[in-house]
Parts: sequence; C-alpha cells; structure tokens
Amino acid sequence: MTGKVTYVAILADESIHPQYERALEEVKEDLGREWPMYIGGKETYTGGKFEKRSPIDVNILIGKFQRGSGEEFSRALDEAIKAFREWSRLDWKDRAKVMGRLADLIERDRFRLAALITYEVGKNRYEALAEVHEAIDVVRYYVDLIHKVNGFEEPMQSPVPGERPVSVLRPYGAWAVISPFNFPIALAKGMLTGVLLMGNTAVWKPTSEAPLTAIMLYKLMIEAGIPPGVVNLVTGPGESFEDAIVANPKVAGIAFTGSRDVGMRLYRRFTQSQPWPKPIVLEMGSKNPVIVTAKADLDKAAEGVVRAAFGYGGQKCSATSRVYVQRQVYDEFLNKLIEKTRQIVTVGDPRLRSTFLGPLINKRAQDNYRKYIADAVSAGGKVVYGGKVLESGEFARGYYVEPAIITNLPRGNYLWYTELFVPILLVDTFETLEEALAKANDTEYGLTAGIFSEDPNEVQYFFDNIEFGVVYANRRGGATTGAWPGAQPFTGWKASGATGKGVNGPYYLLNFAREQARTVV
Ligand code: GLU
Repeated sequence: MTGKVTYVAILADESIHPQYERALEEVKEDLGREWPMYIGGKETYTGGKFEKRSPIDVNILIGKFQRGSGEEFSRALDEAIKAFREWSRLDWKDRAKVMGRLADLIERDRFRLAALITYEVGKNRYEALAEVHEAIDVVRYYVDLIHKVNGFEEPMQSPVPGERPVSVLRPYGAWAVISPFNFPIALAKGMLTGVLLMGNTAVWKPTSEAPLTAIMLYKLMIEAGIPPGVVNLVTGPGESFEDAIVANPKVAGIAFTGSRDVGMRLYRRFTQSQPWPKPIVLEMGSKNPVIVTAKADLDKAAEGVVRAAFGYGGQKCSATSRVYVQRQVYDEFLNKLIEKTRQIVTVGDPRLRSTFLGPLINKRAQDNYRKYIADAVSAGGKVVYGGKVLESGEFARGYYVEPAIITNLPRGNYLWYTELFVPILLVDTFETLEEALAKANDTEYGLTAGIFSEDPNEVQYFFDNIEFGVVYANRRGGATTGAWPGAQPFTGWKASGATGKGVNGPYYLLNFAREQARTVV
C-alpha cells in the first residue's frame, strides 16, 4: 500500500497483518530504554525522569523520559529562534521538498509507527495504521496545496503607475506546539506541518502519554532534512512548561490540541501575558451529537454510531457521544444499536487482530468511566449495554472497560454537556426535526455532528441549522469520525476551536503566517 489509503482499504488489505505483527516484535527493541529530549539537535538529559507504561499491560515499560520544565523550554525556544533566521528565508519550495521527504519516511516506517502507537496508547491495528496514513496524507496535502497557491504569493494592482505590489505570507517566528495522546502522530503532524511549512520553527511538547512515538517522529524529521533547532522536542508534564510558554515574550504563537480546560487556560493566560496580540490555534474537543430520523436506514445508522462512539474508546474529539432518535423508530434503533455493539465492539488486547476496543489511556480515564456510569445511574439513567470496568483475568493489568449505552438520562444532567472521552453513549428521543436540532445544538461545543435520514430535505435542514464545523450525513463507517486531510477540514466552532480554519483544510496554513504587502517601484 502506498499513496492515498482509506480506512476501508486498510480494513480490507490482508497484507497488513504479517507486516504489522512483525513490527510489534521489532519495536520491542525500542521499549524499556531511557530517552533524551532534543534541544538544538542535541540530546539533552534532566535530573528528573518519568516513566511511561503501556495501557495494554502496565508491566510493559515503554521507556524512561526526561522531566523537562520551563528552563528547558526557554533554551529550546532560543534554539528555535536561532534556527528561524535561515529556515524562514528558505524558498518555500525547499521547505516543501523537505516535508515531502518526511511524508515518504513516515510511509517507509508505517508499520513500526503503528505498532508503537498500539503499545503506547492502546489503539487497535486498523486505527493505528489509519492514523499513520492520516499523518502521511496531511503532510502531502499541504505540500500539494502550497504548490497550488504558488507559496501564497499574490500579485496585486496599484493605481499608481509603475508600482508593482505583491501580497506575500511571512512566518511569525518560533512557536510552541502542544500535542495530545489520542492521535500522537496525526495531530502532532498536522500542527507541525502548518508551523514548519510556512517557515516558522517549533518547540514541540508532546503529551506525556506518548513520548516515544513523538521521539520516533522527531528522528524522522531530522532524517528528512529538517535542520536541528528548527524543531526541538521537550518532554515532561504540561504544568511544568505552562508558565514559560504563556509568559515568554519570545514565543511567536501557540498551536495546541487537547482538552478545553487546558486550551482555554492557555488562551486566557497567553493573551494576558504577551506584549502584543499573537496567534493561538486551539483544537479542544467536543460533545458530538447524531440525529436518527424515522426516514433513516437504521442498520446504517446503528453501525455508523457504534463505530463513531466506541472507536478507540470514544477518545477522539470527533467521537459521537449523544444520539437523538425519532420516537417512532426509537425501539427498533435501540435494539439494532445494542446488537451492533455486541457484534463489532470486541474488547481485548489491541495487539490482537480480533480486538476492536483496547484499553483506555490511563487509570484516571478508567476511574472517570466508573464515576460517570455511577452518576448516570443515580440520576435515573438506564445502562442498557455494558457499563462495567474490566479488572480481572486477561484485563487485570490494563485499563479496560466495556462500551456503555445509557438511556433515560434526565435532560440537564451534566453528562449531556461534558466531554467524557470514554466509551459512553447517551441516547434520547425527539418528535420533530426542529426539536432534534435544538437538542443537538444545546452545547457549548461545535466540532462534529451527524444525521441519518434518506430524505434530502431533512439532511439539508440539518446542514443549515446545526452549529458544528464538521457535519456528516449517512456515514456508515463512522457517524462523526474519520475526517481526512484534504477531505474534511477539521473545524471546531464555539468551544471546540478558536480560528475557524481547520486542520485538513485549505485555510489551515493561514493560521501560521502573517501578510506582508510588498511594493516595488
Ligand atoms: N481526524 C479524527 C477524526 O475525524 C479526529 C481527530 C481528533 O479526535 O482529534 O476522527
């Protein structure tokens, strides 16, 4: 498999299995070791260390990593500023060439990277491999795009005879890039591609849940020819970097993907601490609804919802977490939903081909799950499927839970409004489409939403009235998930995002550059 690959193609391709299984063995040589951070291209060690263990089985030590802090961030930022001079003055075509090479290298190592994602964050093989391909495609999409728009150089017209004005986009400087655990390669790559391709440099602080995947990606970036210092990698707990990131006046901008709480805190602190307005690009999760009308193909709807609610345990900002079903098809749909969950969502070790749902990312997520289920029940909710934490036998050493479907949860309960990031799906009814839209929009978030209806008028009404940035109709493979580079710009509205120019889409690169009007006489 090379070039553009879809999730469906990955599912159907028999040849991935021996290659992935070999990679599961091969990457063991990278596990259990101590790893440095990389500042100005130099391996850097700190006094403090932290351990990362696999959520599959806590006996598997992923590695020991450096516990960096503000001091290392500031040093790395100085290196990024030093490197900015040369990188920003390169012709954009040269930067695009380096990034294109990076995409090829990620493709070369795709099975190893996928295997590592499985070990580090517990994704099954299909989702892990799809993520690696998403990262490849995001880089290639932007390389193609920048060629298409000729590096964003736009000749302008002046009313003054002899003047030849041109609009160009110039980079800002050295950015802080903060990436999450749930797509440790694809989301990091989206942000880093935007930052670097436009001529900025970066200090990258990946999640402490996936530091080894980040290190492997860093090494590929260096191998591709990105000069050391253009990208720097610091590791350690987010809190110990935050003060330095928001307050350092030399930071040019922040690109962050993660929780709303952290994102909003960064936003407030950054805008208050800096001497002038600077860009902050935030992608912050959601509470995604799906509407199933009486005119839906209910089999398709049930499958689409199950895949989107329980794929990677609901640990996606795109996951479906609420379903509104038209009253007259409610019982039939609920039965199908339960049946499809039973068929599709096999829970187990994600290294096994038969597993759909691996572990949650950590103990806290497992504890949250337990609490949310208990809170739903005590508020009057009915758990109609799953709901148990799995702690014995084969599950004892990881963070496994059952997928859960809950009905009858009173409106107004906090679970309807909170992003849970665990496999819990809430189901409710509606009478009219207008009511369904009101319920779906009753949230501060606005990332992904879906509808199932074979009536084009209903679909159009949904598109026109839903307050979400990424909207789908009748998607069997995932009602609200699976946005792809070049296909679905991943644009969060309201509390889901800050810029309205989403990763995967044609305007994303504009987040990372400022316009300069050049006039030559
Ligand atoms: N691209 C992924 C999808 O659409 C989601 C990324 C995320 O959850 O942040 O499912």
